[in-house]
Amino acid sequence: MPDKGGREGLGWVEEFLLQRQKENLLRTLKPVVSLGQGKIRINGRDCFDFSSNDYLGLAGHPELVAASNRMTESCGTSSSASRLMSGDLEIHHELEEETARFKGKEAALIFNSGYQANLGIINSLCGAGDGIFSDRLNHASIVDGILLSGARFFRFRHNDMDHLEFLLKNHRHKFKKALIITETIFSMDGDRPPLSALVELKDKYKALLMVDEAHATGIFGEKGSGVVEEEGLIDSVEIIMGTFGKALGSFGAYVASSRRLIEYLVNTSRSFIYSTALPPSVIGANIAALRLVREAPHRRKDLLDNACYFRESLKDNDIEIRGSSQIVPIIVGESDSAIKASQRLEDRGFWVVPVRVPTVPTGEARLRISITFHHSKEVLSKLLEAIDEVLKVQVLK
Ligand SMILES: *Cc1c(COP(=O)(O)O)cnc(C)c1O
Repeated sequence: MPDKGGREGLGWVEEFLLQRQKENLLRTLKPVVSLGQGKIRINGRDCFDFSSNDYLGLAGHPELVAASNRMTESCGTSSSASRLMSGDLEIHHELEEETARFKGKEAALIFNSGYQANLGIINSLCGAGDGIFSDRLNHASIVDGILLSGARFFRFRHNDMDHLEFLLKNHRHKFKKALIITETIFSMDGDRPPLSALVELKDKYKALLMVDEAHATGIFGEKGSGVVEEEGLIDSVEIIMGTFGKALGSFGAYVASSRRLIEYLVNTSRSFIYSTALPPSVIGANIAALRLVREAPHRRKDLLDNACYFRESLKDNDIEIRGSSQIVPIIVGESDSAIKASQRLEDRGFWVVPVRVPTVPTGEARLRISITFHHSKEVLSKLLEAIDEVLKVQVLK
């Protein structure tokens, strides 16, 4: 390992980068031109984009663009201060009231991103002397929030309620407060947790339950508000967070909860307090996105219908997949195989990212296919053909 504390200037940076490159783990940025309708130009080639989180195809929707422009015209390009200074515009409150109604909770609070929301919420709810029980596959922003809080950190095996109960039974009594955290659609596996079992456990062990609906918001549930709504558990989950940056086609994040808990966060959540409020353009797009989710339910229905078709077709072709949502991971195994498969799909005009360690466990490298509203059954069947070819080539080789 490079010695970060060494005296040789930046030599350790060079060592680190070379090492990453040798292991085929070097991350690099690739400029993209958005062509709209689910297509991008990348590495000089036009591709269908299967790595986007714009699940409902709302980024670039004329109503979001118009709302965003109108808000800039009337309120300017910046909020000019944090919410507790003079950046607290009326439109922030309008969006928060809309969000609370959407999620079926008393109140909501806007954060500048999902990353900042998880940091700010978790760090403000828990501290030294508390215990946090987190699914092992939870997003990095949740992990970072827990580490920042200084609470004792327990990871339970993915969606394993026996393991969670084992941990609660052995450790819950040591802490004043206990917080259980899960995602409702897991970003790299596309599956969901047994939510009602989680609710039972948090009641039994007098803990709080927080869920991250980043990949569920706008897609699941009768109103499209997420998995918590779909499973009828809104009143049983104390803290529901999610983002505007994925299916809602915009940017920023929210937490929905009781009015008093929101007041508590306004007073204690450092990533909320010490950051300039989201600009009017973003708030305008967010309000328009919530309206579209309400008024255009066919978008989520078509999306889930197409995702179901895609999953069933892969299964029919004996390809190993995970989950049950618009995120479809194809497990390939080794990092090298995932990289090669992704390259071959790119050659055929499909942009599919390989996901490898450290994002997923060793030996579980995968192609993560993210289906959006723009991908018709016709496009999906072309992708199916390409996947079949590409994976066959790999097996034969
Ligand atoms: C994307 C994501 C976040 C972060 O949200 P941003 O708004 O992109 O910062 C948080 N949690 C999960 C599960 C995510 O997938």
